[in-house]
Amino acid sequence: METDNCGRLVGVKQSSYTVGHRFFFDCQVHTDASDGQRSPAQLAREVYERNLTVVVTDHFTLDGATSAMGELDHLKATMGNGEAAKIIPGVEFSVKPEKSLYPRMRNMHVLGLGVDAHSKSLNRWVRRQRHRRRTCLEHAHSVRERMEGEKIRFNADFEKRLMIYGNVYKAIAKSIRSDENIKPIWRHLGVKVNIKRSRHMPKKTRQRLLEKQIIDSLTRVYGDPFVKRPSIYEAVEVINRAKGLASVAHLLASNPRLKHASTSRLGRFLGELRDFGFSGVESYHPAHDVVCADKLANVSREQELYVFAGSDAHELSDEIAYFIKE
Ligand SMILES: [Zn+2]
Repeated sequence: METDNCGRLVGVKQSSYTVGHRFFFDCQVHTDASDGQRSPAQLAREVYERNLTVVVTDHFTLDGATSAMGELDHLKATMGNGEAAKIIPGVEFSVKPEKSLYPRMRNMHVLGLGVDAHSKSLNRWVRRQRHRRRTCLEHAHSVRERMEGEKIRFNADFEKRLMIYGNVYKAIAKSIRSDENIKPIWRHLGVKVNIKRSRHMPKKTRQRLLEKQIIDSLTRVYGDPFVKRPSIYEAVEVINRAKGLASVAHLLASNPRLKHASTSRLGRFLGELRDFGFSGVESYHPAHDVVCADKLANVSREQELYVFAGSDAHELSDEIAYFIKE
């Protein structure tokens, strides 16, 4: 892995990222500039002490990346050493996949790795994204108010979930206390789970079914939860224009159905992404199990896409440059 003096990616050697479940090039870490817990200074210290290479990919902002880079430079200048430690500017977008791409794929996250953090077009774009996200969150809060007016109660972790899920309705579906609220939910959203049938389902399956129905009903009652998301094509273009590498983030976590796709189907899909201008795939991620991650990595290589590994670390307890799912 090489970077130029601005820390941008110049060349990426493939398949050199994982050693067991540890890796030294982490393509996705978040700071408190978006929804992470580490401050840029904390992150820089960790990168410095462990001699890591890390891409800071906050949602809709480059502020965390630029200040972490400044902090790392300061550490190197004052303490010496840490030559191998590197922080690379990046960003993460949530986009609306083109309809033709994969049936019923609703959501995709795109990473811009090694972007020029001072690119005017990128910064303008990021500001616009942030505004869009704010509008989504305002919408989610007004839906919550309406629902609480219908005596539907929310768990305390609703706000936290809002930060995690791109689809704000998913955050709502996971946060309303469906066990004790089932009647008001039925009344308000017209959600009906066939209790007789679902009684024999495992609790998790029933919960998931109910969540899916709630999300569909919320969309029917309150409209599309995504306020004008950009297309993949737009996002990739703005990343490439800012000299970054566009990479698909946690593909199998956003679209679990792809885990069961045949190798050739997955290959066709990734080939289309490459034609859209993607350069790589975050194949290794804590939400991907090892078998699926290896398959994704192999197919990505076949399609001449770089293979990346990301910890997607948000909380302090999420270890950077590490993933464990067996
Ligand atoms: Zn993401």
